[in-house]
Amino acid sequence: MINLKNYVTVLKRYEDELRIQKLGACWLFSQSQMKDHGCKRKWSYSHVIGIDEDSTSGALLYGVGWHVIMEHALLRIMNNDKCITEEEGLEYCETVARDYLNSEYDNLPMEEIYKQEWIEETIERYKRGIIGWVKHWDRVHKEYQVVAVEKTLVAPIIDPNTKDIYKPRSKFVLEKDYLYPCGINDKGDIIDLEMPYYKIGRADAIVVKRGTKSLFILDHKTTSQPKTYSKKLTFDMQLASYCALLNYEMIEGELKHLKDHIISGVIWDLCHSKIPSRPSLLKSGKLSQAKNKTMPSWIFEEAIQHYELDREEYIDHLNDLKVTDHNYFQLLEVSVSYKDMHRAYLEDYATAKSMHETRINLYHCSDIEFNYKAPRYPICEQYQHCKFSKYCLPNIDISKIDETRIKKDKKIHWRVLTDKSECIILDKEGKQISLPF
Ligand code: SF4
Repeated sequence: MINLKNYVTVLKRYEDELRIQKLGACWLFSQSQMKDHGCKRKWSYSHVIGIDEDSTSGALLYGVGWHVIMEHALLRIMNNDKCITEEEGLEYCETVARDYLNSEYDNLPMEEIYKQEWIEETIERYKRGIIGWVKHWDRVHKEYQVVAVEKTLVAPIIDPNTKDIYKPRSKFVLEKDYLYPCGINDKGDIIDLEMPYYKIGRADAIVVKRGTKSLFILDHKTTSQPKTYSKKLTFDMQLASYCALLNYEMIEGELKHLKDHIISGVIWDLCHSKIPSRPSLLKSGKLSQAKNKTMPSWIFEEAIQHYELDREEYIDHLNDLKVTDHNYFQLLEVSVSYKDMHRAYLEDYATAKSMHETRINLYHCSDIEFNYKAPRYPICEQYQHCKFSKYCLPNIDISKIDETRIKKDKKIHWRVLTDKSECIILDKEGKQISLPF
């Protein structure tokens, strides 16, 4: 007999979340896992077999570091209900961003001798960006009030036929203090029991339009091409899904204090990732004011001060540059309706069901069967970016995959809580008698 209620779900990236602990043992999937599941083969490599192929890139590390700065900046904005100063922003670049980059030192995708130089250059890039972001948010903050930062949102997956939480019977490997999802042809102490499905996401921030009850989920995006990137907004399926999670949290979950608000949509806080550096002086000892030399006004302003030039001479040029400053930081707002959210709930159910079926199909699977139980995209558009392409393209048999690459704890597993509570009893056949939901 096992006491299921004493298990807590452990999910990569959400390890210490109190919100997850309160849910007990459950399947949790995120929007990125949902996206991965578009290619069943990719999802199976990662989430069923558990191949550990962590990959990183300079662009990804830059984006995460910027995210860390934003988190601290928005927390302070929320707590004081006023925008941070440029000095505070610069301090975050030197403290929290530097700490983050140092913590990733071993993973930096370059030769050892270039690593420290890359960190210093990246911090300088953050500093060039944060000055513009503070100016931008000085205006944004007057329009929106930040009410939550880095908020984990979860909602149960509801079976539209039974109107109950979707909790199919799955197979697990039982070990002392741990429960693992069954992979392919796993052996050991296998039990099967019902486990409910939940969708999870983390909102960078939740904001309210001042003077109204309109709530928006705010998402940071860094890109080197903000103009073209903004076109993606209309097609981002994550938006409605996150609003659906927020809707559940407001009605049944942890955000009931916002119940009288209306979910209006999503805002992308779009930040340019390549802010130009300080311009050099011309031979004449002046700065170029050529019309084609576009750059943010605050970088030009800083150059005037740095070279101790007469600001009066550059007033017109500075005013021209200010007109295009919005190209570097933009707030894009898209509305999401309750109909969109309802569709997202149903699509989440479809994904959970499909994930469950894939797991069950793969429980017993030969090398040949893997080709149809975990098929590829009809046309793979990710081969250049897919970290599993080295297994997929040459079609390496699953029985030949290097054992050392397979992680036992996978992306999700369940750990026994030391703090005992009410029991959920399994009968002699391993059938579950009750669930904590
Ligand atoms: S290379 Fe393409 S088809 Fe193969 S696993 Fe990756 S995403 Fe799927």
